[in-house]
Amino acid sequence: MSKFMSERFSKLIAYVPGEQPRDFSYIKLNTNESPYPPAPAVFEALNAGEIANLRLYSDPECGELKRTLADYLGVGSENTFVGNGSDEILSFAFMAFCDKNIPVSYPDISYGFYSVYADLYGIEKNEIPLREDFSIAPEDYFDLGTTIFIANPNAPTGLCLSAGEIEDIVKANPDNVVVIDEAYVDFGGESCVQLTKKYDNLLVIQTYSKSRSFAGGRLGFAVGCKPLIGDLEKLRYSTNPFNVDRLALAAGVAAINNQSYYDNNIFKIIHNREYTTSELRELGFEVLDSKANFLFASTAKLSGAELYAGLRERGILVRYFNRPRIDRFVRITIGTREQMDALISAVKEMLNNA
Ligand SMILES: *Cc1c(COP(=O)(O)O)cnc(C)c1O
Repeated sequence: MSKFMSERFSKLIAYVPGEQPRDFSYIKLNTNESPYPPAPAVFEALNAGEIANLRLYSDPECGELKRTLADYLGVGSENTFVGNGSDEILSFAFMAFCDKNIPVSYPDISYGFYSVYADLYGIEKNEIPLREDFSIAPEDYFDLGTTIFIANPNAPTGLCLSAGEIEDIVKANPDNVVVIDEAYVDFGGESCVQLTKKYDNLLVIQTYSKSRSFAGGRLGFAVGCKPLIGDLEKLRYSTNPFNVDRLALAAGVAAINNQSYYDNNIFKIIHNREYTTSELRELGFEVLDSKANFLFASTAKLSGAELYAGLRERGILVRYFNRPRIDRFVRITIGTREQMDALISAVKEMLNNA
């Protein structure tokens, strides 16, 4: 750290993303990307004409993308917000709806960025322990008097709450914003997007990164009542009105218009998830019931660190979290059937040597 770094950030610990090796030699099951390319319509949209247009700024209102998303979701354009990945939208939501007088609550085991944003913005953290079985107890989130962030399905567990349970939380906190991070909802969760019409304190955030094969394109969106969206827009226009670039805007529209392509990929990923779950359970693994595009799995025979290292030696990257309660687990992204078979073979080999 230089001597010039602001005192405010001297103790900040930055988010650590999963490894992104520069070569393609690994089977990459560590950052929940899709194993499939974007839809054919996205390839067509990112054409020479669009590249030539890069000399011009992008549409700061993101009008066409907002209208496309609004039609697709059955909400108004004024109820939608788009950002440079959902991480950016989460950042705006922390900035907008928390401060030194409004703390934030979220599960103690969840998406790592929540605590980083709280620290970045000087927000008091109320980390609520998951139950022993790693599920979220909805009643722990009633009448908190804080802003609430919940990933549903949760990461890295893959477990989810029903829309009814989320609605109970939203109803029980009428004076605070409840943010539902639906990064993985397309893989079998229940979306709360429609509930945003009924509650003025609910913000739902989704992303193109996982189910729409666009992690490297950086595009996310949020849905909420008009005033909540207005608050986010104020911060976006005060930060970077061109946060979503031309290529992402064009790809974002094309992707929604080619949704059946993604639905087919989601179907395959869910099938591979169920297949891998039963194979690993057959090998004696504990595997949580995932509704996401990853599994959270452990075995009594090897620690999480050993699983991670052994798989890496065999050319397979997974995610390991060196934290109490979850250090025996690894998080495995669901890839193609071939990739999952390679994972299962590697695991069998390691168990035989253990
Ligand atoms: C991947 C992920 C995100 C971030 O997605 P981007 O749109 O790529 O920024 C947000 N929340 C959760 C829970 C995630 O797993």
